[in-house]
Formats: sequence, structure tokens, C-alpha cells
Amino acid sequence: SSATENEIIKMQKFNLSEISDTQKKSLLQRPIIKSDDIMARVRPILDDVRKRGDAALVELTAKFDGVKLESPVISAPFLPEAMALDESTRLAIDQAYDNIYKFHDAQYDRSSLVVETMPGVICSRFSRPIERVGLYVPGGTAILPSTALMLGIPAKVAGCKQIIIASPPRKDGTVVPEVLYVAHKVGASKVVLAGGAQAVAALAYGTESIPKVDKICGPGNQYVTAAKMMAQNDSSAMISIDMPAGPSELLVIADGTSNPAYVASDLLSQAEHGEDSQVVLVAVSLTPDHLARIEREIHIQASVLPRVNIVSQSIPKSFILQVNSLEEAVTFSNDYAPEHLILHLDEAEKLLEKVENAGSVFVGSYSPESCGDYASGTNHTLPTYGYARMHSGVNTLTFLKHITSQQLTKEGLYKLGTTVMRLAEVEELEAHRNAVHVRVKDIEAEMCQN
Ligand code: NAD
Repeated sequence: SSATENEIIKMQKFNLSEISDTQKKSLLQRPIIKSDDIMARVRPILDDVRKRGDAALVELTAKFDGVKLESPVISAPFLPEAMALDESTRLAIDQAYDNIYKFHDAQYDRSSLVVETMPGVICSRFSRPIERVGLYVPGGTAILPSTALMLGIPAKVAGCKQIIIASPPRKDGTVVPEVLYVAHKVGASKVVLAGGAQAVAALAYGTESIPKVDKICGPGNQYVTAAKMMAQNDSSAMISIDMPAGPSELLVIADGTSNPAYVASDLLSQAEHGEDSQVVLVAVSLTPDHLARIEREIHIQASVLPRVNIVSQSIPKSFILQVNSLEEAVTFSNDYAPEHLILHLDEAEKLLEKVENAGSVFVGSYSPESCGDYASGTNHTLPTYGYARMHSGVNTLTFLKHITSQQLTKEGLYKLGTTVMRLAEVEELEAHRNAVHVRVKDIEAEMCQN
């Protein structure tokens, strides 16, 4: 921290009315992820685990995490002493669990959809859980029960039969008790003691001790992300993934009613994630004095953070954009498509209807991102890198698939038959036409008899 003692920790500053279109475009961009190099490192790891299973997994964990394991997996029921927590931690996890469960359970519409599109033509849709899911909880030394909650609860609500959590082991070969406690609460059957690409490979291909899963969800570093993407593209793995992931991001829109200390605290809560974290402040018609107060708060609060070394890297890479109207602010935000969007505005809720692209929105000065990160009920596994344009964050539907069905009566088929046969003719698929024709012929013969 000595390096930062004499430096002012501050964001770059731009004014929307003064920058060129090219500059604006570059502000909307995220740092480029160099993926070729990572892919080249990940490929042999995937192959190794696919071919040699547990033995490869144990070796790779020794190599990358410095931990020698007897077995790469622990199975439920987990030992009570391995998930023992102090009272206040347990209560906090329980409270977070309850809120997240409530919100994700409400997302699950268990009724089936039935529509009679024409008389006698009945179409329906119903959902079923994805049977086996793998949830990646990052970090060997980091303690991330929140990520285990955010992935495990929707999987449990959806009714997934087999929930497997993977997380790099601690140096002593164990899993952090907080994560194991959550694994127990969400009904996980196994915890894989591995991280990185090798953990993803074990979930995607299965090993002697780890069943293969159908879908892999969860954040992680670039090795994890690359492995998820490669496994998804490998038809022999036959898995899907939640979404592509990049470094975490936050965009704050603040007007003259905003509290400078709150705005600064929100920006820093995101900036402390990593040196590559992106934070953006869109300042709507702020007076120079108001903006200066926010900048002062950023420096003061940053300087006393334990992670001052990280924020002193991420804050200078981040920027403030001054705009003259709320309209300009929300347009920029929609173009940026932030993972997290915080509205420090007078009547903030009114802006919600103009938000087109964002992972999750925090409305008003009493809704810090931290609440959504941990315990309010919404999910924190959200699309980054601009993928909020077309991806939703992890939710209960992430762990479900929908099946459609139809049932036609004799009358229904007779009515629809002409249309289907004509379209089959147009596409020159005679067998398709015939499957209707053989039935319609019989129906017509019956009608003649009556
Ligand atoms: P991680 O669990 O993602 O990765 C650790 C693993 O990376 C190790 O087990 C090791 O096997 C592998 N690895 C490390 N160096 C390697 C190398 N040179 N070659 C091959 N494999 C290697 O933990 P992390 O690295 O601490 O990263 C955590 C990531 O998760 C960060 O990017 C962070 O932003 C993200 N994160 C996201 C959330 C969220 O919920 N959104 C929460 C916490 C962390």
C-alpha cells in the first residue's frame, strides 16, 4: 500500500458532449481477453482428465493447487465437523439461503401451458429439471459460500436430481466449511476437490468417482471459462453451460440527489474484485463540486481498504462519463449492457422501464450491490462483457428445460390435414404428406359410411 500513499486514486474523466464517436465506442468496449494462449493450455488438461480420469485429476491438483489428495471427491452425507460454523456465520448463510430460495422458487411456474390452437389441436408445454448439474465455486483460499448459494439454490428449486459442486481444495486438502454447509443445504451429492480446467473436465466427461453432468454453471478464472466453452463445443462431452464469463462490472448512474459517499462505496465494492474489474460512473448534470466530492470520497475510502492495492489498479482503468440528461445516461448504459447497474437518482424506479440491457439493477440509494451479491434474493451470477444484451443471469430456468407436446383429435387432424399436406408438398417431403394422408383417407371413408 505504500505505493499508493502519495497518489490520488482516481478514475479517468470524459464528457459525452466532448468526445468523438470513436472514443465513445472505445469506452463501451471491455478489455480484450487473450484466449488463444489459454485455450492452448486448457486443451491438454481436458484431454488428460477425459482419458485418465481420477488419476489425472489428482495429479493436476497436485500440480496447480499444490495439494496431494487421496481421492478427488467427497460424497454426502458430509461430516458435521467438516461443515461446523460459528453461530453468526451460520445464521447469515441461513438468512441468505431463505431469501434466495424464496425469490427463485417464485420464478418456477409449475403449471403446464395448454393451448387449443384450432378445435381439436391441443398444444402444451411443461418443464422438467436438467437431471445432473455441475456447479463451479471458484477459489482455493477464497471463501465463497455466496457463489455456492447462488448456483445451488436454483438447481435445488428446479429439482435437479444430482447436484455436484466443484471447488479447488484448501492447502490441507479440505473444502471450506462454509461451502460444504451450503452443499449440504442444497442437497449436493458430491463435492469435487478440484479447480480450473481439470474440474470442468471431470464434470463434463465424468471419471471413475465423479459422474458426468449435463450442464456446468458458475464463474471462475479464464481457465475455467475456457474449459467450459471447449467442453460445450465437444460433442463427446454433450454438455451445456450457463453463459460466457468475464471480469465483473458495475455501472452507476448518479444525479444531483446522489450521496457522494454512497456512490463511491458502490464503485469501490466492485473495483475490489480484481485489477481487471470494470467500474463506470455516469454522472448526470452533476455540478463540479458534487463530482469533486464523489472523487474525494473514492480516494478516501479506497485508501483504507485492505484491498487498496487492487483498487489502485482497477480505479484508474475505470472512468466517469459526464452527460447532460437522464436520456443520454440510460442510452449509454443500454449500449454498455453492464452486469450490475446502480441507480443513484431521484425517483430511480422510474428509470427501470428504460433499462434495456443489464444483468441486475439496484434501485435507489439504499440498494447497494452488496445486498444482491449476498442475500436479498436475486442471483449474483450475471452476464458480463456486454452479454447482458442477450443473456439472463443464472435463475431457476437455467436448470430446467421445456418439453412441448400435442394431441390432435380425429376432427382436429381432419381440419389441419390440408394445411400440413400442402406444406409437405411444397417442401417435397412425400412421407410427411403421406403420414397425414393415410389417416385423412380413413377419416373420409368413415364419413362416407355414416
Ligand atoms: P478459480 O477457482 O477460478 O481458479 C483456480 C484454479 O485455476 C486452480 O485450481 C488451478 O487449477 C487453475 N489454474 C491456476 N493457474 C493455472 C495455470 N497456469 N494453468 C492451468 N490452470 C491454472 O479461482 P481464481 O483463480 O481465484 O479466480 C476466481 C475468478 O472467479 C475470478 O476471475 C473472479 O472474478 C471470479 N469470481 C466470480 C464470482 C462471481 O460469483 N461472479 C465470485 C468470485 C470470484
